[in-house]
Amino acid sequence: MAAAHLEKLNERQREAVEHGVGLPDGQTGGPLLIIAGAGSGKTNTLAHRVAHLIVNGADPRRILLMTFSRRAATEMTRRVQRICRQVLGDNAAIMTDALAWAGTFHGIGARLLRMYAEQIGLGVDFTIHDREDSADLMNLVRHELGFSSKQSRFPTKATCIAIYSRVVNAETSIGEVLKTAYPWAQEWEQELKALFAAYVEAKQAQNVLDYDDLLLYWAQMVSDPDLADDVGGRFDYVLVDEYQDTNRLQAAILMSLKPGGRGLTVVGDDAQSIYSFRAATIRNILDFPQEFSPRPADVITLDRNYRSTQPILAAANGVIGLARERYTKNLWTDRTSEQRPMLVTVKDEVDQAAYIVEQVLAAREVGVALKQQAVLFRSSNHSSALEIELTRRNLPFVKYGGLKFLDAAHVKDLLAVLRFTQNPRDRVAGFRLLQLLPGIGPQTASKILDTIAADPEPLQSLAEIPPPPKSGDDWPAFVTLVTALRKAEAGWPAEIGTVRMWYEPHLDRIHEDADTRKGDLLQLEQIASGYLSRERFLTELTLDPPDATSDQAGVPLLDEDYLILSTIHSAKGQEWRSVFMLNVIDGCIPSDLGTGTTDELEEERRLLYVGMTRARDSLALITPQRFYTYGQNSQGDRYVCAQKTRFIPATLLQYFEVASWPKVGASAAERSTRNVRIDVGARMRSMWT
Ligand code: ATP
Ligand code: MG
Repeated sequence: MAAAHLEKLNERQREAVEHGVGLPDGQTGGPLLIIAGAGSGKTNTLAHRVAHLIVNGADPRRILLMTFSRRAATEMTRRVQRICRQVLGDNAAIMTDALAWAGTFHGIGARLLRMYAEQIGLGVDFTIHDREDSADLMNLVRHELGFSSKQSRFPTKATCIAIYSRVVNAETSIGEVLKTAYPWAQEWEQELKALFAAYVEAKQAQNVLDYDDLLLYWAQMVSDPDLADDVGGRFDYVLVDEYQDTNRLQAAILMSLKPGGRGLTVVGDDAQSIYSFRAATIRNILDFPQEFSPRPADVITLDRNYRSTQPILAAANGVIGLARERYTKNLWTDRTSEQRPMLVTVKDEVDQAAYIVEQVLAAREVGVALKQQAVLFRSSNHSSALEIELTRRNLPFVKYGGLKFLDAAHVKDLLAVLRFTQNPRDRVAGFRLLQLLPGIGPQTASKILDTIAADPEPLQSLAEIPPPPKSGDDWPAFVTLVTALRKAEAGWPAEIGTVRMWYEPHLDRIHEDADTRKGDLLQLEQIASGYLSRERFLTELTLDPPDATSDQAGVPLLDEDYLILSTIHSAKGQEWRSVFMLNVIDGCIPSDLGTGTTDELEEERRLLYVGMTRARDSLALITPQRFYTYGQNSQGDRYVCAQKTRFIPATLLQYFEVASWPKVGASAAERSTRNVRIDVGARMRSMWT
């Protein structure tokens, strides 16, 4: 008979959990791949496997567990602890800080790089640039080299970063990337090469790493056999969820950490691969077994879905059944239901929002908490009308994968102070910060940063700089602030309060709505108190920023009930009792941007599949007949007639209950509220500028 904690698992899940466990002392099993469709219990099995390893004596501090998001890592840790407690009882207290190495690839990379900084020639105080910082630095470098998109058709800073990132992640040449993805920019190949070289040099001089560097440096580090031994030797087990969305660098890192594959487990579903735009490749998961010789990895597949009702699963299977190719097979479930998923036509996005609110409230009435319901969309800006309707109706929500709390200018300002203190060579932070002071513009800021960067003690040299004209008392106050911070006089997290007090008068000067913004800063202070040190705070916040909420205040209270709004990408791995999908129309899914090649189109299809398979009991796909585009095409903002997504052709309609809303005969009063017209774009923009 199986141990109590394994009782609920089916036979193949159990096989995966027990794989290679119970070998003689110090031995771990060979490599294992679990490949299976959505909701088949992959993540659940992985959590059980980790717990099972621990209850069988594995040292939790020597288990490396990598998930796609920090949220997923936290959730996984909680599950592992719960199972361990079930088996070990109160002894599980020793497991509390057990899974110290659970996180995302990037987060784990950042930690390891800091640990090994000296050995690999990195300053231990390196700061991390998010995408926007990276684009800003690219921009600074671009101007220095005299490549401007204003005078010519030279790619914008965001495009430059996108091209650079693609070259790095796909480990290919710039020529290749331009040819396949940016043919119009091919004429700039030489300039882009020079730009990227200068960008890399600037990062190194400033001791900053961007997202891609976290993987790149990590891969470089473990390509050295001694360091690979040392880093890999820290872990007896390495387990990775959502392996279908890793890129070649990530695979290379894994293979260097565990060259023979001992103790290595990867889990995923090729039908859910949705990150090829970040150079993820399903080759990683499909080729995994053959990476090892003489014996390939063991492969376990699962075919029973525990998440969704049969009608939902049938519809999802129908959609993915039309995919050109895939490895995982159709799933089955014994969760019967009379209710087919809905395919609902509405007039436009305003009606779409009204429909969702009506349905969400009705579900809440019958006991489905808001948190058990989610609204998913292809692109972050698709939820604008809904966000406004929710705000109007006072319904709290949290938005995953959209604009972040940290994108707000005032929050970035405050973080720039901390980052500059941590690493005074971080030019993007310094540039932002210095220009907060009256009398300091880009040129002066540049000069100051040049001067201090040349000094081995940048902050010392800052104190010796003659105060810039017109900066008045603000200059000495600023120097005093950063000097005190550098010496950690106030300590963490109290120093955030110090920064806030210094910043508030500037905030009053710069922004009209200073009071609202001050609220955000208080919130930031609260978030900060949850981190052990300034460095951990900056790193984790940059890698995994808090989600935007209806009250713009970062994180809602934990006991509050709120509706989840999420891009499909950010909904990966999660499930809700009730799921709505917005704008299930051609142009949104598949996205206009994703219909260029067959591969892109196939990925859009998988996205729809990922979205649909998040639903447990109820699923509604909504198709507005009119859709408002925000200057995304040559005609600018306008209404376009919308068509139901091509991924649900007539042959699949049998799986849906097709309806339109509102039902004919809805009262005039109902209609009048729905016909209110608001400038959605302007309101959304004003939230974040
Ligand atoms: P995805 O592909 O979306 O990431 P997954 O394969 O990781 O899905 P899980 O999230 O692990 O699937 O599991 C889906 C649901 O099925 C969860 O609610 C989980 O608790 C449940 N489940 C998994 N295995 C079993 C089982 N053996 N018995 C009962 N419920 C199970
Ligand atoms: Mg999962």
